[in-house]
Amino acid sequence: MSFQQINTSCFYYQSSVNIGYVKQGDTGLLIDAGIDRSSVKKVLKELRKRELPLTHLFITHAHADHYGGGAYVQDQYNVHTSAPVFEEAVLRNPALEPLYLFGGNDPLPELKNKFLQGPPLKIDSVVEEGPVSFGEISADVFCLPGHSYQQMAIKINDTLYAADSYFSEETLFKHRIPYITDISKTIESLKRLRTLPFNGSVPGHGVFEKDPSATIQSNLNYHQGLLNWLLEYIKEEGEVSQETIVSSMCKHFDVHAPGLSQWLLYKTAVTAYLLGLMDKGLIEDRFVDYTWVFYVKCQ
Ligand SMILES: [Zn+2]
Repeated sequence: MSFQQINTSCFYYQSSVNIGYVKQGDTGLLIDAGIDRSSVKKVLKELRKRELPLTHLFITHAHADHYGGGAYVQDQYNVHTSAPVFEEAVLRNPALEPLYLFGGNDPLPELKNKFLQGPPLKIDSVVEEGPVSFGEISADVFCLPGHSYQQMAIKINDTLYAADSYFSEETLFKHRIPYITDISKTIESLKRLRTLPFNGSVPGHGVFEKDPSATIQSNLNYHQGLLNWLLEYIKEEGEVSQETIVSSMCKHFDVHAPGLSQWLLYKTAVTAYLLGLMDKGLIEDRFVDYTWVFYVKCQ
């Protein structure tokens, strides 16, 4: 964990979840806020030590590991807080995340943990794709969905704070089945990332890279590998339920899901790959005995 300077105005606090920081004149912008008070406290301490201003907060997407420390920042500083459209609804009402992961049922108490639900934030403005200014800072915001419904990356002074639009290789191999909500959008966003002009990028998890194109390609290869495995598996099974697919894929990739929270995240990710195969017309779904099943489309 350390505070890294990228260029004259761009910094990031490197940790298991990175926190970006940009300074321009008297404006200081924090990009994401870590999972909780203790993770963001280290960054605030660093800013105080270096006498750097903090006037704005931008949250890239409404996942608790990126916004959980935000309420503490709002408590300590008078920050103008912005977030992507739609994600801001979750940031103001964080109970929505365990609610949607639990399929709309009232979440069990064990789902109200800091990994799925952070303290609510006050949102001052909603951001859409395009140029945006935060005080003296000019930025370009790009909508890169797939990992989250309206996740946004932000480019300032030629540095891209990419959030979770791609992962470091280490993160991919650690999670084995990375959390995504839509594989087609994930792949589209990765391909778009390759075309964006920037000079260096900070992912949400991983390290700054001057040229992340090899890492982005690894992400594309990794997702394609999972899609290939899933298609072969369904071919072999003939017709298989979503529940069995989730269990088989988690077993095959030996993921760590000891409880309901992790299982729900993996269920969403596995379903995202299923939807991708449907999207490509490679598999079809139907209902048999009140069970949602998938099978390979006859050519
Ligand atoms: Zn995320």
